Amino acid sequence: MGRRKSKRKPPPKRRAIQPLDQMFNCPFCNHEKSCEVKMDKSRNSALISCRVCSERFQTTINFLSEPVDVYNDWIDMCEATN
Ligand SMILES: [Zn+2]
Repeated sequence: MGRRKSKRKPPPKRRAIQPLDQMFNCPFCNHEKSCEVKMDKSRNSALISCRVCSERFQTTINFLSEPVDVYNDWIDMCEATN
């Protein structure tokens, strides 16, 4: 009795339509989309800096980190220091 290999249908690939948003609102000067995240995954670090008020924040990331995680870290840090 031969077992039939059932052909599995591959799951439909959904393209992530969400734009790679790397610009965030600044918690210091309240400018919109003035903060740019630079991810350096080879060094596990990320830097977010504001183009308007030059406020910046550096944090550690992993290969799963997204720019928004860096931003959230920044916000958390701001709230912790306040
Ligand atoms: Zn700013």
